[in-house]
Amino acid sequence: MRFRVGFGYDVHRLAEGRALILGGVAIDHSTGLLGHSDADVLLHALCDALLGAAGLPDIGHHFPDTDARWKGADSAVLLREVVRLIGEQGWRVGNVDVSLVMERPRIKPHIPAMKRVIAPILGVGEDAVGIKATTNEKLGYVGREEGACAYAVALIQAD
Ligand code: MG
Repeated sequence: MRFRVGFGYDVHRLAEGRALILGGVAIDHSTGLLGHSDADVLLHALCDALLGAAGLPDIGHHFPDTDARWKGADSAVLLREVVRLIGEQGWRVGNVDVSLVMERPRIKPHIPAMKRVIAPILGVGEDAVGIKATTNEKLGYVGREEGACAYAVALIQAD
């Protein structure tokens, strides 16, 4: 069995009048993440970790923000496409782990729902999907609630 690991990072601004979508789950909040797609920062970091593990170009290459097809796109659709792309190279997902950094709202109650969305897309059990959330202790742009960022690692495997 062959293994590869990959790392992904993403950041999006928070803005009023936007839905907050994280890990494929809509969360009730006064602001949402701003972007061409639904700006799901957690899934974008995860996509880049998977693409990076397979040595493929990043999410911006595959889903450019200049392409009207991806305007308002559900990032779960992008993740599904990423899994298909790495599958074309002979890879399947082993496990993933994501850290979301965001000041508000409280993310922990939503993590089980995120795992239920993500695990079947990746073709793994929910125990192979790590999701953690932390605040930034009120420091920097995250602390001022100007944005949120996410870090992800992914292990992919091939027989
Ligand atoms: Mg992004």
